[in-house]
Formats: sequence, structure tokens, C-alpha cells
Amino acid sequence: MNISANKIINSSTEEKLFNNHNIYIKRDDLLSKEFSGNKARKFYYFLENEFHQIEKVISYGSSQSNAMYSLSVLAKMKGWKFDYYIDHLSSYLEENPHGNYKYALKNGMQIHVRQDAPLPTENELFIEEGGRQKEAKFGIEILAKEILTWKEEQGIDELNVFLPSGTGTTALFLQKAFCQLELGFTGTQVSFPLETKPMSPKCCVYTVPCVGDVEYLKKQFLMLEENENFHPKILTPSKKRHFGKLYRESYNIWLKLREEMGIEFDMLYDPHGWLTLLENPEILKKPTLYIHQGGLIGNESMLMRYKRKYGENI
Ligand SMILES: *Cc1c(COP(=O)(O)O)cnc(C)c1O
Repeated sequence: MNISANKIINSSTEEKLFNNHNIYIKRDDLLSKEFSGNKARKFYYFLENEFHQIEKVISYGSSQSNAMYSLSVLAKMKGWKFDYYIDHLSSYLEENPHGNYKYALKNGMQIHVRQDAPLPTENELFIEEGGRQKEAKFGIEILAKEILTWKEEQGIDELNVFLPSGTGTTALFLQKAFCQLELGFTGTQVSFPLETKPMSPKCCVYTVPCVGDVEYLKKQFLMLEENENFHPKILTPSKKRHFGKLYRESYNIWLKLREEMGIEFDMLYDPHGWLTLLENPEILKKPTLYIHQGGLIGNESMLMRYKRKYGENI
């Protein structure tokens, strides 16, 4: 594992050609083999700081969640126990552990099939589903600074940044950090006064909801920042795709991304992200950075499902 506490994480940025568009890819999937993607950014605060009284981390969510796997890695690195609550475990997964579930178990995760997680004691750290919490700001600000440094080195004036959203935590904190850094706010500023407006953000974050709809994502943003001037721009996808469902066009673009760029993307968020980005070519008129948010261990279970649905020759 090449990430350790007190080491600033920095991923590379690659210039690629996809579908006749020049595009930059921020390779957060390569941060480290184990602790990577946006969950590494979101949980970086917990990796970097000491929590002397904590012995166990508790979280909840779905049985193939990327956040669940990343938390199992964090717990292992920290020497914490890890209890994870799910409301349902399919007998197929129980009998054939694979993907995030399998590797999280290998890292020592204790699974509990139960509706609600118990309230944490003072020796337990509670993490919201998908890492939707304020501590995520810490690691995402580092990501924002890395992007701004790279942008300056490249001599790029205005940059569009695109990433698909689940809870929207990454996109929101990223846009907010860009605005804060531009306005010269540092450190403790929690929220912007409602009348504050960024001049004209030089880094504009675009995103698309993958879990709920546009309204759901807007609500998520408002919970983290009430000043909408600092929200990312939400793109409306032309087609509603249900999270975790399989679509032929999603599989096709996933293959095309791999063929044309030589990069494997995640199969849950990225196909919907790329399909929506390509529907909005005006974004790509400016230099555009796509953030690869990791999640590749989850592809094992997605690929199995695609093969079961469409046969081996999809
Ligand atoms: C978790 C995850 C997301 C969604 O991140 P949010 O901060 O919840 O919006 C997107 N892509 C990948 C690969 C993820 O693992």
C-alpha cells in the first residue's frame, strides 16, 4: 500500500482522445491499488488524523458499495474493527462472495443484516452511507488544489471539470473548494454568506445524478451548502437510467472508453456520466477534465451480471 498518513496524495493527469474530443483524465483510480478513487479523497481525513479513542468504524449501505470496500481498507490500515449494516443480503452473494463484498470481508468486515445500524458509542466512528459527510471536504480540497496547480502548469485559463455523482458530496465540495480558493477564502469558512457570488469561476464543475434524479441531487447539494452560487452545474440526462441496472449502451460505452483510451472505468457511474457528457458537447469546447473516481473492484460483480444477462458474447 503506497498511501500512508502524512503523505499528500497526488494523482496524474493524462491527455486523451475520445470520440474525437480532446479530454484530460484525472487518474484518481491510480492513487493506490487499495485506497483509491473518490472514496480515498473522502476518507483521507480519517486516514491522516489520529483518533485515539476509536476502535471500530460503523457504516451502512448496499452490499456491493465502493464506500464499503474503501472503509474496510481504512479500518485495516488504522487497526479498527469494521461493522457494516445492510438491510438485505442475497443468497447468491452469500454463497458466492465476489466484488467489493468479497474483498471487504477479506479485510475483516463484519456484516450485519439488519434494518438500522446501532447508535455509535464513544469508541466507534459512524460513517454515513457513501461517505456523505463534512469530513470529506478535507481530502477534496487537496484534490482541488492539485487540479489548480496542474491547470496553471498547463497554462489553461478556464477549465471545465466533469464527474458523475452519487451522493454529490465530491462534486459539491470540489466546486466549493475552487470558488473558495479563487476568492482567497481559506481554512475555517464553513459556508458562504448568501449574497456572495464567485466572480466567474475559472473551474466550473459539471455533474450528472446517477442515483436519484436532478431534484434529489439538488437537495443533497443544499444540505452541504445553502448558497446555490457555489453548486456544481447539474446536467439532465436524456434517458433515466436506474442505479445498478444493466444497459447495453452503458456496456458499449464502457468498452469504447477502454478501447480508445486504454483506461478501464467504473461500470456503475462512469457509463452514465460519459453518455451524458457526450450529449453536452458545448462543455467540451473548453479544456475539460474528467475525474476518474475509481471503483474498479466493483466491476467484477458488474461484469458477472452483464455476462449472466447478455451471455458471454456481449
Ligand atoms: C462513490 C462513487 C461515486 C459517487 O461519489 P459521490 O461523492 O457520492 O457523488 C462516483 N464514482 C465512483 C466510481 C464512486 O465510487
